Amino acid sequence: MVFDAYITASLHCKKCGKVNIKDISYFELRKIQGKSIYCECGEPLIRIKSPDLKTFHILISCLACNKEHIYNLKWSSIPFRKVKILTCPVSMHEVAFVGGGYLVRSLADRKQQDSIELLSSI
Ligand SMILES: [Zn+2]
Ligand SMILES: [Zn+2]
Repeated sequence: MVFDAYITASLHCKKCGKVNIKDISYFELRKIQGKSIYCECGEPLIRIKSPDLKTFHILISCLACNKEHIYNLKWSSIPFRKVKILTCPVSMHEVAFVGGGYLVRSLADRKQQDSIELLSSI
């Protein structure tokens, strides 16, 4: 069995609108300060840490309501063969996807396709 040593996060930058999909290694999650991800434009997107690799702490600066949200997720609820959709508790807007790399990428593609279709159907 191949051990997947990465978790993938996908989210929109609230400043430039770019979709960022990043792989984060477990090694980086275990650091005290966790792993912060920045957009190419310099905007901070998300911070993930999991010192014990049992619980994930995810901090997102929300593009929908402009507040910082903290999500505490059990490792077991996002195994790498799944995707977790994080929604803004205020606006119910989908702010990020985290999980297995392949699944996160295909979901992000599909969502983008949906919004393109939505735009072209108007
Ligand atoms: Zn950006
Ligand atoms: Zn929000």
